[in-house]
Amino acid sequence: MRRARRRRPSPVRRPRRGRDGSSRGLLVQVGAGTVQHVPGERVQIVQPCGGQRGRRPGEEVSERAVQREGEGAGVRGPGRQPGRAQQASVRGEVVGADGIHSAVRTALFGSRSGVRTLGTTVWIGIADFETGVHGETWGDGRFFGITPVEPGRTNWYATVPAGTTADGLRAAFDGWHDPIPRILAETDPAGWIRYEMRHLHPALPSCTDGRRTVLVGDAAHAMTPNLGQGACTALLDAEALGRAVAARGRAGLPAALRAYDRERRRSAQRVAFGSRTLHRFGSARRPALRDALVGLLPG
Ligand SMILES: Cc1cc2nc3c(=O)[nH]c(=O)nc-3n(C[C@H](O)[C@H](O)[C@H](O)COP(=O)(O)OP(=O)(O)OC[C@H]3O[C@@H](n4cnc5c(N)ncnc54)[C@H](O)[C@@H]3O)c2cc1C
Repeated sequence: MRRARRRRPSPVRRPRRGRDGSSRGLLVQVGAGTVQHVPGERVQIVQPCGGQRGRRPGEEVSERAVQREGEGAGVRGPGRQPGRAQQASVRGEVVGADGIHSAVRTALFGSRSGVRTLGTTVWIGIADFETGVHGETWGDGRFFGITPVEPGRTNWYATVPAGTTADGLRAAFDGWHDPIPRILAETDPAGWIRYEMRHLHPALPSCTDGRRTVLVGDAAHAMTPNLGQGACTALLDAEALGRAVAARGRAGLPAALRAYDRERRRSAQRVAFGSRTLHRFGSARRPALRDALVGLLPG
């Protein structure tokens, strides 16, 4: 897929708006600071040879996430170490904003929901030149994305079956359209980042114990990065939780946590499902049906 900027905002998949009607307004409202907002992008879907398959609308918001913890409350145990989080316990009023390996989630739900890998790896890097081409290209079991980052540089990511080495990565995209092989040949693997694709599975039945502990962000619904919505969704959680608690006060905390759960859980889980589905589509190993379906998307 290639991303081409347009001025008009996309008519679908908009994140919740702030008081001024914009995502920027919402992010400023929750105290997220300076906001970069790239509105109304449309995305082209491209084949390895460079031919266009279809288009889809898209929108992207990027900003640092927000984390708060109740005074005198907290998580006990080695929650930062994946696999050892089972020993954690919570006391007091706790907002579990502790990411995909959340110790707070484990304390609330045990191992009924956990981190699941998808058998693919994404490699990420930055090329020291501009390509003039932005978007994602889908092939057989792998895909390659190129996005703008700043003048003179290009952000790229490549998803391949798990276990692929840096040399294997170059081989996997050999023969794909320009600038993909050029980007891989001309950037140093020492600067590449590797991430095993994973998400939270199965979806949680609740984001709260309904009394004084609540989960937000990846702790509640870690998703694959394919829609670029994980941090955006975490911010929406933070805003909704803050609003629910402010409206009911300390005495109404259980009701506020349940209201937050009603407002955010299913919505966030739908985004996670969409992101995982897009991952499956992009990395399909028998892509004929996928390619035919993508070709039917409205241009
Ligand atoms: C490759 C990749 C690309 C992505 N691209 C995008 C994108 O384009 N757009 C987007 O919106 N999202 C994107 N995301 C998702 C985004 O990074 C996450 O959804 C987001 O960081 C989740 O925020 P969080 O605060 O919930 O969790 P985290 O960012 O994981 O923060 C959790 C924090 O809790 C701390 N912590 C953990 N355990 C404990 C403990 N026991 N006690 C105290 N602190 C603890 C951690 O150190 C960490 O600082 C991407 C993710 C990946 C992997």
